[in-house]
Amino acid sequence: MAAERQELKTENLVIIGSGPAGFTAAIYAARANLQPLLITGFKEGGIPGGQLMTTTFVENFPGFPNGVQGPELMDLIKAQAVRWGTKLIEEDATSIDLSKKPFIINTTSQIVKANSLIVSTGASANRLGIANENLFWSKGISACAICDGATPQFRNEELAVVGGGDSACEEAEYLTKYGSHVHLLVRSSSLRASAAMSDRVKANPNITIHWETELIDVLGNDWLEKLKVRRKNTQQEDEIFAKGLFYAIGHTPNTSLFFNQLNTDSKGYLITAPGRPETSLEGVYAAGDVADPEWRQGVTAAGSGCKAALAAERWLTKNNLATLIKREVLEPSQAETSKTLEVSNEENFNPDKTWQKGSYALRKLYHETKKPLFVIYTSSSCGPCHILKPQLQRVLNESNGKALGVEIDIENDQAIAKQAEVSGTPTVHLFKNKELKKQWKGVKARSEYKLALDTLID
Ligand SMILES: Cc1cc2nc3c(=O)[nH]c(=O)nc-3n(C[C@H](O)[C@H](O)[C@H](O)COP(=O)(O)OP(=O)(O)OC[C@H]3O[C@@H](n4cnc5c(N)ncnc54)[C@H](O)[C@@H]3O)c2cc1C
Repeated sequence: MAAERQELKTENLVIIGSGPAGFTAAIYAARANLQPLLITGFKEGGIPGGQLMTTTFVENFPGFPNGVQGPELMDLIKAQAVRWGTKLIEEDATSIDLSKKPFIINTTSQIVKANSLIVSTGASANRLGIANENLFWSKGISACAICDGATPQFRNEELAVVGGGDSACEEAEYLTKYGSHVHLLVRSSSLRASAAMSDRVKANPNITIHWETELIDVLGNDWLEKLKVRRKNTQQEDEIFAKGLFYAIGHTPNTSLFFNQLNTDSKGYLITAPGRPETSLEGVYAAGDVADPEWRQGVTAAGSGCKAALAAERWLTKNNLATLIKREVLEPSQAETSKTLEVSNEENFNPDKTWQKGSYALRKLYHETKKPLFVIYTSSSCGPCHILKPQLQRVLNESNGKALGVEIDIENDQAIAKQAEVSGTPTVHLFKNKELKKQWKGVKARSEYKLALDTLID
């Protein structure tokens, strides 16, 4: 049941979106003592942390000479924003009224008023809309090779990627680590990816590029088995065997909230003054991919987030709308970031520890504990897992030791993942007395896990 809507005071600055653009804007605004409120998003238009949560190594973000995992980079940027006083609402913005000031933003459970607004809602992966797409979504079809590629169902199987740009090539290359062979379905007769990336894919013997080939549907029983394709030059229909199909067919800017309120271009991107963050409405700024049909990079998004925050600060000051916080302590305490958890073994296993990792802890707790037990299946590169873990840990902490959690990395514990029939990460199973009580795929609202747990706590 939806929580009762709570009305809050008027904020100096609300930022919508928690990718590199939103969090960078938050860092600047927070350091300017504006105490910004950032609405992270939940399931609309991507995931909290944005697109970099769906990638493995980011090799081109300045300051990381050896590269950094996308989710880890976003954890760090978020921690920096929170350290300086950014407030978070971990929900979607569901509607916005920009027709009067202060602006009004409705989230899933709250009403927020804002003197100024930064829109950094990014862009979302496109779908094809083929007939059986929904039937096989998460049963072979995925929009994130990096998140789901390592799952047992794809190991040593034929896999396919649709698309012809950088993402498609990157995903095809990545999937050769897991699949026996990768088919790249390209609608035209050339790749749109960078020359270096195209050359790598063409030279890879484990990738077959199907030129001028259109995906028309997918077939299977409980799981995806075949792709139906049409060869465009002959109009002949063919089948390609594949147990996994990964979409890499571009993105659409997340601007539906602003329809008829802010100017957009023909593809839906917000229009700003060239090189500047101002949108068509005074006091509203845009940052990142949502207003960038051309560059769409982590660092360009971060740079534009900085510009948007500085512009908002100047505008609020000029219009006497900024209420600045006074810092008692000039230097905030050190930021908290996600820490690596040691895998439990015979020596360090503790039956009462709320959160443990690995198959040893799972076996012990599954057989011996009387408490409800969450088992969360993750993989190191799965961005949504980074979002889910702290949420579940919060639920467990709130249970005051009456429930436990075990994290299973499906790459390290493949046999367990297979036995549990895990088809993607994150997957959560909730057990009580060895009985599976409930399971979830993907990230759900924290209240869902809490509700299920509360019914099992003695
Ligand atoms: C697979 C992949 C690999 C990439 N690799 C690299 C790389 O190596 N280097 C690089 O520089 N760039 C890379 N990029 C591009 C980079 O991820 C994007 O350019 C960047 O993330 C854009 O940042 P952003 O903040 O504008 O938006 P996004 O990262 O898209 O974030 C948008 C945010 O808005 C939120 N949101 C959307 N709608 C709502 C709503 N209604 N309410 C609240 N919140 C909402 C979403 O939850 C999300 O948090 C990659 C992208 C992909 C997909």
